Amino acid sequence: MKRALLLGGTGDALIIARGMTKPHIYSIAGLARVPTDLACDVRVGGFGGVPGLIDYMSANEIALVVDATHPYAAQMSRHAREACTRADVPLWAVRRPAWQPQPGDDWREAADWNGIVERIARFHRPLFTLGREPLAHLSEIPASQRWTVRCLDPHEGNARADIVDARGPFDIAGERALFDSARIDVVVSKNSGGKATEAKLTVARERGLPVVMLARPALPPADREFDDPASARDALLAYDFNLQ
Ligand code: NAP
Repeated sequence: MKRALLLGGTGDALIIARGMTKPHIYSIAGLARVPTDLACDVRVGGFGGVPGLIDYMSANEIALVVDATHPYAAQMSRHAREACTRADVPLWAVRRPAWQPQPGDDWREAADWNGIVERIARFHRPLFTLGREPLAHLSEIPASQRWTVRCLDPHEGNARADIVDARGPFDIAGERALFDSARIDVVVSKNSGGKATEAKLTVARERGLPVVMLARPALPPADREFDDPASARDALLAYDFNLQ
């Protein structure tokens, strides 16, 4: 039977994967926890760029690719678009809507790491919720700042940086406690959208703190796009692979 290949590594993708059975395949890069409770096949690790993905799709009779990667995992999304176009395989995508500023929000967009550094220059206690990127800059922290960096994996901090390893979902009470204990005065975030990591924005709003928001990367169009994973899962369950 022809198969669906689900590209994941996100909570949204897991919602789809939990509706899938063999021989359909759930693929993750391998940075996060590998799920062990799925009824579908699970594969871990990169494909080796677009050529590797095309080879993988051909060897595994992939008749549909569903891109449910994180909105900032732009390389994987671009590779999926290119590979599907070249292999003439339909591509669906879950494109999680971005968070929108609410009354009382003070958001400042940054295009890249240098833009972030500029925008936090006059603050002292930033909370980074960007994943691992700030870890590469721990030796560059100005004397006026102490960073709190939240990411998935444990990592050593230093005299000016505390690393908090934690994975969402995060609730408002927990975020208030973190903001208090680390005396946060600015938040640095991706505009991930969704509920799981939204509480930090609520706490920033209630305290009048600015949020430096890393701009979303441009993503390629898919043949069919879904706002939410449940709709993608339902469409996948209704998809007739025998017709492909
Ligand atoms: P990326 O920059 O778009 O991708 C880097 C490379 O990782 C890709 O070229 C591909 O390697 C491999 N890869 C990515 N997703 C894969 C998947 N689902 N299955 C197999 N290989 C995959 O992605 P990233 O930002 O490093 O994110 C890596 C993973 O973490 C993604 O699955 C993403 O959904 C998840 N994630 C990312 C973020 C974020 O903020 N970026 C947040 C939460 C979760 P090859 O070129 O060798 O095929």
